[in-house]
Amino acid sequence: MVCFACVEPLQCAEGATAPDLWTLANQQAKVHRFSTLLTAHDVRQSLSSPEGVQAAIDWCKQTGITKVYLEEYRDGYQAERATLEQAARAFRAAGFEVSGCVTTTRVGKPTTGWKDVACCYTDAATQEKVQAIFEYAASLFDEIMIDDFWFTDCACPECDAARRAKTVTVGDRTYPVNGDTWEDYRCELMTRVSQARVLGPAKRVNPKVRLIIKYPQWYDNFHNRGYEVVRETADFDRIWVGTETRDYLDKRWGGTPQYEGFFIMRWLGGIGGAKCGGGWYDWLGTTEHTYLEQARQTILGGARESMLFCFGGLHGSTGPKDVEALRVNLPELFAAANEVRHRTLVGVAAYKPPNSHPEKEARVFDFVGMLGVPLAPCHEFPTNAPAAFFSVHALKDADFVPKLERFARSGKPVLLTDGLARTLAHRMKLDLGNIQILPVKDDPKSLLRLDQKQCDEIRAALLKPFKVSCQAPAQVALYLFKDKSWALENFNDGSVDVQLNGKTVAVPGRGWVQHWK
Ligand SMILES: [Zn+2]
Repeated sequence: MVCFACVEPLQCAEGATAPDLWTLANQQAKVHRFSTLLTAHDVRQSLSSPEGVQAAIDWCKQTGITKVYLEEYRDGYQAERATLEQAARAFRAAGFEVSGCVTTTRVGKPTTGWKDVACCYTDAATQEKVQAIFEYAASLFDEIMIDDFWFTDCACPECDAARRAKTVTVGDRTYPVNGDTWEDYRCELMTRVSQARVLGPAKRVNPKVRLIIKYPQWYDNFHNRGYEVVRETADFDRIWVGTETRDYLDKRWGGTPQYEGFFIMRWLGGIGGAKCGGGWYDWLGTTEHTYLEQARQTILGGARESMLFCFGGLHGSTGPKDVEALRVNLPELFAAANEVRHRTLVGVAAYKPPNSHPEKEARVFDFVGMLGVPLAPCHEFPTNAPAAFFSVHALKDADFVPKLERFARSGKPVLLTDGLARTLAHRMKLDLGNIQILPVKDDPKSLLRLDQKQCDEIRAALLKPFKVSCQAPAQVALYLFKDKSWALENFNDGSVDVQLNGKTVAVPGRGWVQHWK
């Protein structure tokens, strides 16, 4: 990895200031935009004086950021109207796009679950408080992002009674719930509260306002906490995607492999289509290497914007080092975004139906991607895909078995998890030459221990329809595009040699190589 400005390694001192990132970022804004959020607390601490506003503007310009989200509410604190209005005027005058944001933490009645994070939205007073917050935000801005705490895991007596009664009550309306599980109740609750307490009231205050639902990074749990990605995506104006994978080995934040940023960006991008605005990652539990990996996965995932959470956070702990690395790599990231934008991703279809249950294969897609299997994430059965990977998630699809039988009979390569194969053993023929079984062993993390020989074997059959051959060590991800362009990203510390289509490609440690046709 080198600095484009001075062709020196990443740590160079001068690279961060040349070229002029503000000019470059404005030139590239139509293709890809970097943005940041000033939380309600950042607004109070950093934007309450003209000097503070100017310092924030300068920092954003130096970082190639051309859009800011100024937050109205977080953790029980509502930012002042005058401060928000003055800051918004100054940012706009300086050439920035400016939107609002709401974080629904400590809104009212606390949940019985994830303390200080979620709330009980069965509670009528909490619903009313939420409505008032969004009315306030809509009176200030024409676009409002909702940070990814717009869920509930409450199981209080009030929630439990409503769940058993299979009804959701919002204001004076009561809606039926299609089932009596917590998943059924919470998905219906959050959908209805979004419609009646967020979207409706905000648009009555400001008919121009567009609301963005930002989905968290923990995609296999969405349904359990009421993130209903199909109905909510249909209801909201735009969606956003959490790609904050952080450092796999970090004691507090670790355990998520880097490839997840790409997987979730593409999966939700498929559900959201034109509504999908961008990705969102942060500095927590990162090194400058993992921070850049988040940036690359977000761009390879097809994002049109990268939201860097958040202004205050990026000024503390590992933030400044992350920002320094990002600035150096910004020209390369913009260039990659330009290439990705005009191309169609191809690969081994990876089918996760919306609201599907992971059972013991949580986030298995992320780990399969780390084996160098180039995935094409999808939320509908990939009937026409050249090759496909299926896990227990697919069982959410009521017609999955006949669909899989047809797919397998066509002779296309299929990779099944051992868990799914166990479930299917008595329902269909699995001993076909084109079906491989992946040994997940109810422990997706264990896939990271597969060696190069095992990875090469899994890949070999799956890549045949793409006329691609690839021999690579574990933890080197491969991305394929329809016009034969490709990218390789090496998540190992040391450089590796990859044999791609018979040629040796040297991929630097914690770096990537792109080949655009
Ligand atoms: Zn409750």
